[in-house]
Amino acid sequence: CPLPQVMGKMLRERLTPQLWRVLTTASQAAQKRGWHLYLVGGGVRDLLLADPTKIIELQDIDLVVDKAYPIPLKSLQADSIESLETSPQVPETGAGVELARELQQYYPNVRLQVHGRFQTAALLWHKDPELGSLWIDIATARTEFYPYPAANPEVEASSIRQDLYRRDFTINALAIRLTDPRSGTLLDFFGGWRDLEAKVIRVLHANSFIEDPTRIYRAVRFAVRLGFQIESQTESYIRYALESGIYTRSISGNHKTPALQTRLKSELKYILQENYWKPALQLLGDLGALRCIHPTLEFTEELWKQMRLVDRCLKRFQPPEESSEQAVIREPWQLLLEVLLAQLAPEHRAKVAENLQLPDESMTRLQRLDTRNQVIQSRLSQCKSPSQIVQLLQNEDLYTLILIAVQSPRVIRKLIWNYITKLSQIQSPLNGNDLKKMGYKPSPKFKQILDRLLAATLDGEITTRPTAEAFLAEKFPVN
Ligand code: ATP
Repeated sequence: CPLPQVMGKMLRERLTPQLWRVLTTASQAAQKRGWHLYLVGGGVRDLLLADPTKIIELQDIDLVVDKAYPIPLKSLQADSIESLETSPQVPETGAGVELARELQQYYPNVRLQVHGRFQTAALLWHKDPELGSLWIDIATARTEFYPYPAANPEVEASSIRQDLYRRDFTINALAIRLTDPRSGTLLDFFGGWRDLEAKVIRVLHANSFIEDPTRIYRAVRFAVRLGFQIESQTESYIRYALESGIYTRSISGNHKTPALQTRLKSELKYILQENYWKPALQLLGDLGALRCIHPTLEFTEELWKQMRLVDRCLKRFQPPEESSEQAVIREPWQLLLEVLLAQLAPEHRAKVAENLQLPDESMTRLQRLDTRNQVIQSRLSQCKSPSQIVQLLQNEDLYTLILIAVQSPRVIRKLIWNYITKLSQIQSPLNGNDLKKMGYKPSPKFKQILDRLLAATLDGEITTRPTAEAFLAEKFPVN
């Protein structure tokens, strides 16, 4: 297909009228200040990929404002962009915030957040009657200083070009200009359109993965989600970056960078939350990219088997009705991540969990997992009755039980599944209130009686209320 040069009509027709109005308001606000505004990143990609006959509901929009800034020729130190970027004359880049504040005046329900040194603004609508849930990031392109009037399109293009060049893949480095002149123009400096058509994920430069390993995870995520291939040169850059060992220092070593780890965690979470997590994990494994988490982490047959077992278990623990009594795994991605980390030698687990900023309970679980695993596996095979199984497992949390089950031989796994799905749900026909009504006084013995009642129920000695009452009368007569 030929490149669609002008996308204005397409935007107007394919976005919801409400979103189109927000974009128009934003572009007018930019225009009157003499700035350019661009729709960039995933929004453009998704728009070009979507069914052309349908309205597309974008919920996450990235805008870049470019306030091309003319300065007098004589103050230029050198011709190169590098020296211009480090020039002390670079002004505050708060244009995105200024624009966001103006939009806020038209949309009083919106929440505004301002982030970071370069003052990126985020506008958030939550269940808004008109816009639903919408997130708009407005960044400011780092302005370059050229001795030309701001209206010169070449100047405008050079700032946005730099901004797009810092992005991850060609398909994410497309932009649509929302301001005049030539609003609606698609900017494609790096062949993003060609790659969308060819269904390939391609980086913009050879050092991309050295700069940022999270891009490996992003490459895999987009490849699997969109059904694209990672382009062969890009794949070799991934392998080169992984083999260079750079991540050992930056992620699991002592000189770790917190921002990188936060981003790695959010990419991992993103992948593990999606229904395509299995092929994504497989591809990460094929590339050897689990090494980003820890140098010794590999995608083995055993890990794959455990992941499949967890998958089955997750399906089981997502009961359709909210009201279900059954235990629910609220953070499936975290359980999957713990299965991954459980493959590491125990001495590495807590450190990696800490680096990835997992909650304390995860760290504790991973630390004590092997000891609990040994105890449970050896004692479970000796249990002679359901009540003994319950006694052994009742103080373990659901995640620990699943982690142990997937690492255990089939017989033990079945016993644990049976505990989770059946035994743990069984209750005695009589509870504490019933005992009080029957004349038992609350005392330390009370709990003992309740435990015996439950055990007898689990083992089939008690099946109904009358049999429970008879059991009590015989074993614990009221004084
Ligand atoms: P999704 O639909 O999955 O959210 P997205 O492309 O919108 O996809 P975001 O994570 O929201 O993904 O990022 C927005 C844009 O920011 C991307 O399209 C890309 O241009 C850029 N970007 C995000 N992460 C990186 C990164 N690690 N390196 C370079 N550019 C990035």
